[in-house]
Amino acid sequence: MQQGISAFEDLNGSGHERVAYAPLSVAGGTRMSAARAYLHRATRRPNLRLELHCEVRRIIFDGTTATGVEVMTPDGEARFTARREVIVCAGTMESPLLLERSGVGDPDVLAAGGVPMVAANPAVGENLRQHRGAVFALRLRGVPGRNRELVTPAARLRTTARYLLRRSGALAHGGTTVLAVLRSSPAVAGPDMEVLFTPVSVSGHDGTSAGADAGDGVTVGFYPHAPTSTGSIHLTGPSAHHPPRLVPGYLSTGHDRDLTVAAFRRVRQILEADPFASAASETAPGPQVSDDDSVLRYVLEHGFAGNHQVGTCALGPEGAVDDDLRVRGTQRLRVADASVMPTLTTGNTVAPSMAIGWIAGDLIRHGKAVA
Ligand SMILES: Cc1cc2nc3c(=O)[nH]c(=O)nc-3n(C[C@H](O)[C@H](O)[C@H](O)COP(=O)(O)OP(=O)(O)OC[C@H]3O[C@@H](n4cnc5c(N)ncnc54)[C@H](O)[C@@H]3O)c2cc1C
Repeated sequence: MQQGISAFEDLNGSGHERVAYAPLSVAGGTRMSAARAYLHRATRRPNLRLELHCEVRRIIFDGTTATGVEVMTPDGEARFTARREVIVCAGTMESPLLLERSGVGDPDVLAAGGVPMVAANPAVGENLRQHRGAVFALRLRGVPGRNRELVTPAARLRTTARYLLRRSGALAHGGTTVLAVLRSSPAVAGPDMEVLFTPVSVSGHDGTSAGADAGDGVTVGFYPHAPTSTGSIHLTGPSAHHPPRLVPGYLSTGHDRDLTVAAFRRVRQILEADPFASAASETAPGPQVSDDDSVLRYVLEHGFAGNHQVGTCALGPEGAVDDDLRVRGTQRLRVADASVMPTLTTGNTVAPSMAIGWIAGDLIRHGKAVA
């Protein structure tokens, strides 16, 4: 705010730079998962049965029509038959692999993996998109931060007790406390990057250590919003036990490399001005990381994946699924999860994934999205 960035109660919005407390999925001081929010309440319905601890191995087809799934249950193998249709929602990494194991995918990939083809769909497993970012670690001077609540076994015990008794302290926040949506440079029209402020620093700033630093510190992470780099994920064999071939494709376009360097510089500029400059000093990556090549190397070798993978069963004219989320080349089969997003959202992906679930519900029930 001191640097002219407006603070908002709700981070969501568009068009202008903004900073806000991170929105959290929390109810009564504990994490509210999608299962708790939606599924658990729905279990009272007579037409819903949840089969837990099961792994879907394959979709069963009659020709190109999906008729059910083959599942490994705690009691052994089982088959479930679908009266209407099969909805795949195994996530961006698993949905394409499940389709491929079932014979839906690029004919060359299926042939190399030893899977008989049911339907050719070359888009399956392609177009993998992910935020790629990196962090700055800062040592605080005269400001406490939260490392001291986590660093020793005694401190962790006190922090746990505080959380259990009062739902407050370091364990009551979601890691990242404050988010900012910024422009990487004054030349761009609108926000194109996100910055994440975490009131804890860890000694392995690249994720090699999960322990809090002994001194007071904070971590400031960033990533560009909408990468154009794409990767892929494909099977290497017919069973779920064959490891997939994952190509992340990070920073493979000039757009992403330029934006990443600009975003890195914008964050450092913020940290080199007050209020940060008078309260904190950068301990990582340090001054040796400043020219374009060293920034890109740092982001690739010591950065983080935003856990926002999307796109491997993308919507679109050339995509794996059509506008109604139906898998091209098949009947009675849809995908409804983050894998259908053709590009990354300008923000985190859990809320958009839930929105996809809502819209999929409308499409299945009413044949169209209901506003
Ligand atoms: C560590 C981490 C932190 C994240 N933090 C945030 C955050 O702070 N904010 C945010 O907005 N987003 C965050 N995300 C991203 C967000 O969680 C995802 O975008 C979202 O969960 C995607 O939803 P989905 O339904 O596509 O997939 P998922 O939530 O992954 O659901 C897929 C489900 O399918 C199951 N499954 C897979 N294969 C099979 C199979 N063969 N048989 C049976 N079940 C199967 C999986 O176990 C999983 O439960 C984070 C992700 C990770 C991994």
